[in-house]
Amino acid sequence: MTDPKPAVSSDVMTLAGELGAERSKPGWSTFSLALNEEQKEIRDWAHTFAAEVIRPAASEWDEREETPWPVIQEAAKIGLYGLDMNVNLFVDPTGLLMPVVHEELFWGDAGIAMSLMGTGLASSAIFSNGTPEQWSQWLGRCYGTPDDVRVAAFCSSEPGAGSDVSAIRTRATYDARTDEWVINGQKAWATNGGIADIHVVVATVDPSLGTKGQAAFVVPRSEVRGLEQGTKLRKHGLRASHTADVFFDNVRIPASNVLGGKEKLDARLAKAREPRESGGRNASMATFEMTRHLVGAQAIGIARAAYEVALEYAKGREQFGRPIIDNQGIAFKLADMALEIDAARLLVWRAANMSSALMRGETPDYRHGEGSMAKLKAGEVAVRVTEEAIQILGGNGYTREYPVERMHRDAKIYTTFEGTSEIQRLVIARAISGMRIR
Ligand SMILES: Cc1cc2nc3c(=O)[nH]c(=O)nc-3n(C[C@H](O)[C@H](O)[C@H](O)COP(=O)(O)OP(=O)(O)OC[C@H]3O[C@@H](n4cnc5c(N)ncnc54)[C@H](O)[C@@H]3O)c2cc1C
Repeated sequence: MTDPKPAVSSDVMTLAGELGAERSKPGWSTFSLALNEEQKEIRDWAHTFAAEVIRPAASEWDEREETPWPVIQEAAKIGLYGLDMNVNLFVDPTGLLMPVVHEELFWGDAGIAMSLMGTGLASSAIFSNGTPEQWSQWLGRCYGTPDDVRVAAFCSSEPGAGSDVSAIRTRATYDARTDEWVINGQKAWATNGGIADIHVVVATVDPSLGTKGQAAFVVPRSEVRGLEQGTKLRKHGLRASHTADVFFDNVRIPASNVLGGKEKLDARLAKAREPRESGGRNASMATFEMTRHLVGAQAIGIARAAYEVALEYAKGREQFGRPIIDNQGIAFKLADMALEIDAARLLVWRAANMSSALMRGETPDYRHGEGSMAKLKAGEVAVRVTEEAIQILGGNGYTREYPVERMHRDAKIYTTFEGTSEIQRLVIARAISGMRIR
């Protein structure tokens, strides 16, 4: 009989030694899921604020269904709300700080955290589409100062244009006589709509070009006439976050308020009117993909909060003479909850890490809708985990004496806003197939 395990030749050992030495150089050992000391410090700082300020206030602001201005102010005073904070998180070369902080704040409470982070929708739009001059003009104003805090709104959706962004009817017309844009239309479901000073509004300049004929405009409410808040919506969840329709009636803004500048817009429109070329990467997909993982991180924060409540409850609640966690039927639910939360976070961190290419001035190389995968998975995990948490808490879970019913209400929006689950699947399906699946 021959030996099934032949001895490793010395040549192979030499090769292994050489390769081992080569691969212990820095470029080969960059993969890590461990946060560094500074990242941990910032995460713990956000967690402390979430535990000591946000969570104790969660039920009150959920019932009041109002923007928690005192909490925003407190966050601003310690530097947790504001432009500086966002820049600090954004410049992390791993891309992880932003989702890590989102997860902690939403662990505290999603409604309040949305009031703190909703401004990021508008400031990200200014950052990704604006010129450096526009950054200095508008980004600080989105947040105000610790003594005079402000929020900002990003207004894309309309009554007839939710998933179908190409159906946007809000119109921006250039008035050469006064060198101004004139905006008319109605926006729907805008987070901070009408209470914000800075509204970033997506409008069509040339409806014949579909989404390519659209642009984003900065509308400072305090400097214009004709911007009115419509109905403030009463919602299922995220009730501490203000959501409203916004009307624009002949709102005039300077020509320079179009993000990216008018010259660039004119050049883009001219290019869009040229006969279409096929192939190439879809730039708009990359833009959306870059922020989707953050929404996923928010959903994970909610899921983790509900899981922790359920785990503690299952250890303490006794039925049939033993803790309910002593039954596999309950313990396996908790095991699945922990598993799914971690799986979702891994997808979020992968997409976050890919987005860090921005820091190098590159466009992240999304191939399979990785940002959409992260948002889709985390949103669906949040809904499932919060529902299971209610189940584990039994009758108590269904009451407002315990937080999991609120967390379940908050979680549900994560399969709808920032692209519904169906639209995320569409993005992924198109990315993996290269086909225009409908
Ligand atoms: C609390 C809250 C906050 C929000 N904040 C903002 C904000 O700050 N700014 C903003 O611009 N918008 C905001 N929105 C709007 C949100 O982004 C939209 O509600 C969302 O994009 C879905 O659009 P819709 O509601 O019109 O649904 P629809 O597009 O009408 O979709 C209805 C259903 O049909 C499905 N569907 C649609 N098209 C397809 C398709 N091609 N294939 C398969 N299924 C499809 C959808 O998945 C969904 O299940 C917010 C909404 C809420 C509720």
